[in-house]
Amino acid sequence: MLAIVNIVKYVLTIVALAFLAFSAQPSEAVEVLHTYDSMKDDTQELASQYPDIAIYSEQGMSTGLDLEIFSVDVALNITELTDEELNALPTMYVDGTHHGNEGMSAEASFLFLQDVLERSAADPSYLEGKRLVVTPSVNPDGYFIDCRNNWNSVDLNRNYPYMWGMYGTSDTRGSCPASGTYRGPSEGSEIETQINMEMMRNMNLYVYFSAHTGSNDIVLPWKITGEFAVPIADWDLYEYFLNESANVSGLTYRDPGGAGESIAWGYGARAALSLIVEVDDMQWSPIVSTTIRGALSNELLMYDLAWENLELVGGHLQIIDETYNSVTVQNIGWGAAYNVTAGGEVIEKVERNQIITISKNSNILNYNRLIHEGEEADLTLISMNLNSIPNPKNGGTPSIGFISASLTLIAIATSRKRNDYNN
Ligand SMILES: [Zn+2]
Repeated sequence: MLAIVNIVKYVLTIVALAFLAFSAQPSEAVEVLHTYDSMKDDTQELASQYPDIAIYSEQGMSTGLDLEIFSVDVALNITELTDEELNALPTMYVDGTHHGNEGMSAEASFLFLQDVLERSAADPSYLEGKRLVVTPSVNPDGYFIDCRNNWNSVDLNRNYPYMWGMYGTSDTRGSCPASGTYRGPSEGSEIETQINMEMMRNMNLYVYFSAHTGSNDIVLPWKITGEFAVPIADWDLYEYFLNESANVSGLTYRDPGGAGESIAWGYGARAALSLIVEVDDMQWSPIVSTTIRGALSNELLMYDLAWENLELVGGHLQIIDETYNSVTVQNIGWGAAYNVTAGGEVIEKVERNQIITISKNSNILNYNRLIHEGEEADLTLISMNLNSIPNPKNGGTPSIGFISASLTLIAIATSRKRNDYNN
């Protein structure tokens, strides 16, 4: 059956190319979209060009055709990081083709990966302190045979275990290519869904963009209007981000069409700012009549915006003053910071741009970047080290704690230096 599918796709491509050769303007470059195989090869090849900052890996096999779900992990000096260090970095996750017939969504993921790698190689500060993970195709079987759903006819973007089946899904299987919205026999039933969830569970996820195509707009993690609406607890952050992104992409936002989408889980369970980016209005044609990059230029600006401001997506406190018994911070993030404490009093909410002074009973300042908690405690917890500033009442004599902290710092500096010699 696959041989027939391939022959049909090949013939369709030739016919479409011939049509475009006659109809396209002479100045227009025409590009054919990737296939599953060429996307896999090009992604692997791209990552191999940046061995210090990129690792290509295969996460597991698809349901029917045993095709790999592949991804690329990007961070500075990535081969020297432990899994724990990598998983702790603030992360942006980008995936594509949950719906296998939405090829432009894989193209957007690939082009964004290419951009971040190129820019980071030229200027490491573009990548410093954060991590990007890109999975061009969550649904390799569907991508291979140009079908919306997976091998079991399950709509993977209705299969995630968050509000699963609540609205906008079907309980019956459809057939390719527009195979409907069958939610699967149980929540998270599909291998592809499970693989994607497992990947996200190993990320300190700040932003999750899941690319689709068809409506060329932004989709919220769940409905906020009408029947089945549930308020988004961090709506101030979402709204701020959506306004900023509309300025660069021109895209408006809307409620999702169904429950159990990957972004519902991304925010609901993993507490990341999670959005579907419908990167194009083209869904069915295998060919674009301009360059792919040209067709996706606005969307890529939105991806850049999220990446370049990743640590601001949520509350982000910056220390502006500190004494032995207090610390003054400003929230420079795009959302509020919550439950701010330095060991004593707790300030429940610090708004965007607000400056507060809080008493200090510990040398650690803790706060939550978001108010929504997700499936694990402390998913959004930020801990900052404060200085050990001596109490002036003690005549300026450093306390034992201060001396030992200083000695620790000297020891760290010494060990860093030793490490330098080892490199
Ligand atoms: Zn879609």
